[in-house]
Amino acid sequence: MRLLLVEDEKRMAQALCEILRQENYAVDHCTDGLDGLQAIETGAYDLVILDVMLPRKNGFDIAREAREKGIRTPILMLTAKSELDDKVTGLDCGADDYLTKPFMTRELLARLRALCRRNSHTPDGGLRFGDIILNKETAALQCGSSSVRLSEKELRILEYLIRNQGQILTREQLAMKIWGYYSDAEYNNVEVYLSFTRNKLSFVNSGVEIKAVRGIGYELRYRDV
Ligand code: CA
Repeated sequence: MRLLLVEDEKRMAQALCEILRQENYAVDHCTDGLDGLQAIETGAYDLVILDVMLPRKNGFDIAREAREKGIRTPILMLTAKSELDDKVTGLDCGADDYLTKPFMTRELLARLRALCRRNSHTPDGGLRFGDIILNKETAALQCGSSSVRLSEKELRILEYLIRNQGQILTREQLAMKIWGYYSDAEYNNVEVYLSFTRNKLSFVNSGVEIKAVRGIGYELRYRDV
C-alpha cells in the first residue's frame, strides 16, 4: 500500500509519516501543492492524504485537476475548519472523504482502511489489491495478462486477506473464517493452504505477498515490481 501525504506543516507531516509507516504503509511526502499534484499524476499511489491550505496550489485545485486528468486514486482531504463549506467544496472537487483538523490518529487510520476497502472493488464485482484482481464468480486470480484458477479455500483465504488489508490476521482468525472452527488440525491446514495460495501468487508473477508478521499472523503486502 503506497500512500502520498501532501502537507506543508512540518511537525504534523513528520508525525503522520511516522504513524503511517508503523502501520506498514509506504509513505511519500510532498510539502507543496504543485509537487503534490505532480506526484498524484504519476498514478503510483493507492491513496492520497491531501491538506487544503498549501503553498503554490491548494488542495481543492489539486483534487479537481487530478480528477480532470482521469486520476481515480482515493483522496482523503484534511480540512482545517469544520465548516460545512470546506467539506462540501472538497467532495465537489473529487475528494472521497475528509477529516477535520485536529483529528485522532485512530480515526485517520480507520478512514484510510475504509477508503482502501472501497477502492478494492472493480466495476464487475471483482476484488483488487496491488496488481491482482480476484474474480469470485470464476475463482480466477488475475495479474496483468496471467491468470490462474484458485481452489475454494485459496479463494476464501485471499478474499479474507484483501478485505482486511492493512491488518494482521492471526492463524486462529483465518482458521475460524475458512474452516468455521479452530483446532490443531486447522492450524496446520492454514499453513498448507497459505503456501498453496502463495504459489498461485508467484505463478501469475504478482508483487503481492502474504507476509508472516512477527509470529502474530499474516498480512497482505504489495511491492511494486
Ligand atoms: Ca497546510
